[in-house]
Amino acid sequence: MPKSLAYFKGKVVPISDANINIMTHALHYGTAIFEGIRGNWNESEQKLYVFKLKEHYQRLLQGCKIMMMDIPYSVDDLCEITINLLKETKHKQDVYIRPIAYKSEELVANLKLHEIEDDFNLIVIPFGAYLDTEGTIRCTTSSWRRMEDTNVPPRIKVSGNYVNSILAKTEAVLAGFDEAILLNGNGVVSEGSGENLFLVINNELHTPELSDNILTGITRDSIKTIAQNDLKIPVIERRINRSEIYLADEMFLTGTAAHVTAVGELDNRTIGSGSIGPVTKQIQKIYSKAIRGQDPKYLNWCTACEY
Ligand code: PMP
Repeated sequence: MPKSLAYFKGKVVPISDANINIMTHALHYGTAIFEGIRGNWNESEQKLYVFKLKEHYQRLLQGCKIMMMDIPYSVDDLCEITINLLKETKHKQDVYIRPIAYKSEELVANLKLHEIEDDFNLIVIPFGAYLDTEGTIRCTTSSWRRMEDTNVPPRIKVSGNYVNSILAKTEAVLAGFDEAILLNGNGVVSEGSGENLFLVINNELHTPELSDNILTGITRDSIKTIAQNDLKIPVIERRINRSEIYLADEMFLTGTAAHVTAVGELDNRTIGSGSIGPVTKQIQKIYSKAIRGQDPKYLNWCTACEY
């Protein structure tokens, strides 16, 4: 039986014993940096393939730098802690790995980052599909705008930022859509509530540039590589207007949770044929093999874990 375990205060403990105090700074102010990493179960090899583990921890440490958090671990230490925890939990299914570095001091009414203790925890949970990757999803343009780097930095996964995503996703789902697309303060397309965004236009991939307030997506990077290496199609990072989406040939969202999810509709306008387009389909196929260690070319994107 797989176990529900956490790495908590330097030790592996049952998740039920990993509790934080109500006074914790991060609970009150969103002062935490987290990651979402997937471990993908390869049934025939009986191995869990963890996708881009190092890259996720590099991003986590970038977030820590911006948020003045000092955790006593290098990227290699964090990878090792994660693999050790996976070996103890022994899940034989897809899992979601959630590391979180946070302002752990039990101290409220203290609006600063410096001279406050930090800590690092990690949990692993079974995790299946997040959005429908078999068909297409329906999106709506959010009335909420993606926050600006002059407010809080959108390029990192700081917990407080997710109020923005959660407001947008809630609005979209309550209105009957699957996902929200956020514009930024300039009114140009930014990203989904938890995904980056790509359009296929005339057999080219177009995606918003980093300065349009997107998270520096790790799946986004992988898709850029797949498009250029395998499909031999150009990837163009540029400012994208909302109405361009309505006229695109295909659209898809990318993210650790969402994988590559085809979008069939935005604001009740059908995108392309409304079903998964040929470019999206090819990318999905290559990506889904890569994340399970089934594409020799991309084996270096995965850390295999055996138990
Ligand atoms: N944008 C946001 C706001 C996200 O939360 C995520 C999920 N981490 C992404 C994009 C996709 O990033 P990644 O591919 O690194 O998971």
